Amino acid sequence: MTALLQVQNISKSFGGVQAVRDVSLTLQAGELLALIGPNGAGKSTTFNMVGGQLTPDRGSVRLHGNNIAGLAPRAIWRQGVGRTFQIAQTFASLTVVENVQMALLSHDRRIFQWWPRAAAHRRSDALALLDQVGMAAQADRPCSELAYGDVKRVELAMALAPNPQLLLMDEPTAGMAPGERVALMQLTRQLAQQRHMGVLFTEHSMDVVFGQADRVAVLVRGQLLAEGTPQQVRDDARVQQAYLGT
Ligand code: ADP
Ligand code: MG
Repeated sequence: MTALLQVQNISKSFGGVQAVRDVSLTLQAGELLALIGPNGAGKSTTFNMVGGQLTPDRGSVRLHGNNIAGLAPRAIWRQGVGRTFQIAQTFASLTVVENVQMALLSHDRRIFQWWPRAAAHRRSDALALLDQVGMAAQADRPCSELAYGDVKRVELAMALAPNPQLLLMDEPTAGMAPGERVALMQLTRQLAQQRHMGVLFTEHSMDVVFGQADRVAVLVRGQLLAEGTPQQVRDDARVQQAYLGT
């Protein structure tokens, strides 16, 4: 079976700094893969090569077998790769449901239609997405009034709007309280299973990584040190030495 995502030997240098060297990853549909490693290990650079913000110097990024390395971010997005950002990106002055409507409209290219009519058309779809992230009851509140953890849920609903097959989440729980972190990734896990969607995420909290990921890949100084189930990675002596510090 062709993997949802197959990253093969990607490398990227910035001037003299080799940020990522020969990294390979495989992700199946429905699965959560955590990419962990110290600051500067190359996690964001790897994400950006999958999402199209950066072109790998070498190697390939295959989505269902098709090489997408070097395509523009929007082209990659159109092929079913969604993304959330470290700082949640919503329009504070719009309501929760309007934000999700915007996300739906920008995908189906009807943004150019007369806004009130197009938006009304998409309200029920947006409410259905909000229901999936537990935010339907707050649909008509402005985003500016929400707690940060709830903004992250709205952002997740927005990322789901184009029905992605692969969701990239770079530090999705940054700035959140520990309990909220686990809850957000539990929700993401449920959604991945229901939607048969793969999720690649980075995360600092080891509770979240070892509790929620199906598999874990460890990057150190741009190179893949280990990859496996949470248990395999936790038990790996090289990981303990180089990264977990235990
Ligand atoms: P992480 O996300 O794991 O913290 P990054 O991928 O952001 O790591 O960075 C990996 C390395 O590449 C670091 O040494 C960083 O300083 C360097 N780097 C990242 N982006 C750039 C850039 N645009 N220009 C120069 N160096 C960069
Ligand atoms: Mg980073």
